Amino acid sequence: MKTISSLLDKEWYERYRSISKLNIRSSIYDVTNRCNLRCRGCFFFSSDEHRVTEEMDMEKWEQFVDKEMKRGVNLAILIGGEPTLCLDRVEAFYSRLPTFCATNGIIKVPRERFPHMMVGISLWGDEDDERLLRGRDTFSISRRNYEGDLHAYYLYTITPRQIGKSERIIGKIRDAGLKVHMQLLSNDEGVDGFFWKEAELKDIRSEMDDILHKYPDTVISSRYYHEIITTGKMGDKRFGWEECPSVSEPLDHRDPPKRRLIGFVRWASDLKTMYRCCTSQTRDCSTCKDGAAHMSWVMVNKRAHMDSPQHLQGWIEVYEMFAKLYQFIPW
Ligand code: SF4
Ligand code: SF4
Repeated sequence: MKTISSLLDKEWYERYRSISKLNIRSSIYDVTNRCNLRCRGCFFFSSDEHRVTEEMDMEKWEQFVDKEMKRGVNLAILIGGEPTLCLDRVEAFYSRLPTFCATNGIIKVPRERFPHMMVGISLWGDEDDERLLRGRDTFSISRRNYEGDLHAYYLYTITPRQIGKSERIIGKIRDAGLKVHMQLLSNDEGVDGFFWKEAELKDIRSEMDDILHKYPDTVISSRYYHEIITTGKMGDKRFGWEECPSVSEPLDHRDPPKRRLIGFVRWASDLKTMYRCCTSQTRDCSTCKDGAAHMSWVMVNKRAHMDSPQHLQGWIEVYEMFAKLYQFIPW
C-alpha cells in the first residue's frame, strides 16, 4: 500500500496537510419555501419540497441550530426557496457557525449584518437562457448587488445551450471582480433542448478546461472535477444512488454501507422533515449532475486515489476547491 508521503513531493504534501486538518461536517437547510423566482428546472419546486409547513417561531430556529451544532455540524449550507427572504433565520445560523448562503442575488445580503458570510449566487446561463428558464436576466441585478464582494461567487449552472458561449459569461464575472464555480444543469423539469448528450458533455468538459486555463484567478475549479462531473465516472465506479455520499444519514439504509458524508442531513424548513439528499428527492440518480455531490464523492474516496501521484493530486485539488467555496481556506 502506497503512503501519502511517498506519493507527494514537499509542496503537494503541505497542501495535503492543510486540508487534512479541516474535518468539515456540513448539513443543508431549507430556510424558506418561498422564492422571488420560479425557475423552470428548479429541483426544489419540481420535487414538491416546498410543501412542508415552515417553522415561523424564531426561537425554534435558534434552538434547532444549537442542536445541530451539538450534533457536530460545523458548516451550515442555506438554500430554499430564497434564503434572503428570511434574514432573521439566516442570522440564527450565521451568528453561531460558519454559514454559506445560496441566493439568486436579487436581494442583496446586507453586509453590515453578515460581513463575512459566503454567498453563492446562482446563474443559469446567458441573458437568453436566464429569461427562458428563470423569467428574467438575473445577472444584471446580482452583479449590481455584489460587484467586488470578496465573500461572494457565482455558481454558474451550465446548460447544453451554453456550449461555446460560457467564456463570455466568465469574462463578465471577472470584470465584476467576482469568482465563479461551474456545475451542470440536471434539467429536473425536462425542458426541451436542455438534456445533455454524450458528445455535448465531451465538448463542455474541454470548454471548462480551457476556461480554467485562461481565467485561473476567476474560476474556482479543477480539471479532475471537470472529468468527474462530465463523465460521472471515477475509475471503474459510476456516480449514482449506489455511490452517492450526500444522502441524509438517518435515511441512508444502503447495505452494505457506503462511503458518505458523516452526519450529513438535508432539513426542510419545518425543521422536522429530512429529505433524501442534497438535491431533489424525486430526481433519477442516474441523471444527477449535482456538483457538490460529485465533489463530495471524490472527497470521501481518498483511498481510491492513492495509486499514483497524479491521481492523489487530483483528489487534493477537488478537496481544496470545496474548502475554498465554503471559506475553509482562502481563494
Ligand atoms: S431561484 Fe433557486 S429556489 Fe428560486 S425558483 Fe430558482 S432555482 Fe428555485
Ligand atoms: S439525486 Fe443525486 S444527490 Fe440525490 S441521492 Fe441521487 S445521486 Fe445523490
